[in-house]
Amino acid sequence: MFRNFGNLKNIYHDMFKSLNLDDKSGSSTNLPLETERVKCLIIGSGPAGYTAAIYAARANLNPVIYQGLQPGGQLTTTTEVENYPGYPKGITGPAMMDDLKAQAERFGTDVRWGLATRVDFSGPNHKVWIDDEKIIEAETVILATGATAKYLGIEDEKKYAGSGVSACATCDGFFYRGKDVAVVGGGDTAAEEAIYLAGLVNKVYLIVRRNELRASKVMQERVMRTKNVEILWEHQTKGLFGDGVVEGMILWKKKGTPEQEEVLIKIDGFFLAIGHTPNSDFVKDYLETDEVGYIKTLEGTSKTKIPGVFACGDVQDSIYRQAVTAAGSGCMAAIDAERYLSEKLTH
Ligand SMILES: Cc1cc2nc3c(=O)[nH]c(=O)nc-3n(C[C@H](O)[C@H](O)[C@H](O)COP(=O)(O)OP(=O)(O)OC[C@H]3O[C@@H](n4cnc5c(N)ncnc54)[C@H](O)[C@@H]3O)c2cc1C
Repeated sequence: MFRNFGNLKNIYHDMFKSLNLDDKSGSSTNLPLETERVKCLIIGSGPAGYTAAIYAARANLNPVIYQGLQPGGQLTTTTEVENYPGYPKGITGPAMMDDLKAQAERFGTDVRWGLATRVDFSGPNHKVWIDDEKIIEAETVILATGATAKYLGIEDEKKYAGSGVSACATCDGFFYRGKDVAVVGGGDTAAEEAIYLAGLVNKVYLIVRRNELRASKVMQERVMRTKNVEILWEHQTKGLFGDGVVEGMILWKKKGTPEQEEVLIKIDGFFLAIGHTPNSDFVKDYLETDEVGYIKTLEGTSKTKIPGVFACGDVQDSIYRQAVTAAGSGCMAAIDAERYLSEKLTH
């Protein structure tokens, strides 16, 4: 069958060609990738992934979890978490995620380093490539890859991260009670965040690049009716200032026009509300997403349109995006996966 028995690489190459798999291997060498079969594969190690792991492990699904580039997920980038039930004194994000990981490991979850790079959900077993180096064939896959908040990309966002810069009003608004804050954005999320913050803080500046809001009519009216929200039309962020913490921001008014001017306002909190990017690119060929990229699930469940593939947490939630809702949907995904497997066994 093989022309050159001395050249193992060619042998494998021919073998893959005959199986019509060579162009799908993802390997730069064309050597066959190691394949491992698992009952339950969880992708992502935020609150959704670890909660799914706790439930899946306790249901004997022997879950394997890949942590991705941000082990512990978004909460590892924050200091105090005060709204997750069970921590009356609050807890830091990293410490909370260590607890969730320890709880998942206690029941036997196999926690691994690695990034899911692509998938093939066309067969009965679902294939997931890890770092393009290995294939996991899973009976069930739980996608818990979260979403990433968009930032403007200015240096000061990094400089004051956790010291006045936030991308989540529900998470951090409480820390700014009675103070002045700015919200950047002109869509529905920005309008919602501004209204939410207005109920907590002294004053909200809504920084809008254009001379109109993109938000829905209803939300626009609600913002306009909120007394302590002042909209700064045609303003853009230039930078932030303050001694260790945000004390104010510099804006451009009418940037790029003859009337361009610099404006300075005093604020204690700077909230980004310019959207999130769900980490769903690698599954888009197989799963339905909305226009932003959030994975669509069957209402009230974690089921995607592919049997045996489930989604939970921020990657499928454009509305709540909280640790507790992510954890709750992680629990749902593990229960859905367990029921899917037991139904398969009894059919
Ligand atoms: C600064 C900040 C502060 C916050 N504060 C609070 C708060 O106080 N209270 C609150 O309730 N919520 C808070 N949130 C929101 C909260 O963090 C999220 O709602 C929650 O983490 C979502 O959980 P998740 O498990 O869905 O996803 P994430 O936490 O985003 O985790 C996603 C995981 O998926 C992994 N991943 C992504 N792609 C891949 C891939 N291809 N292969 C393998 N792994 C992958 C990542 O490495 C990560 O481990 C905050 C968010 C931020 C950014």
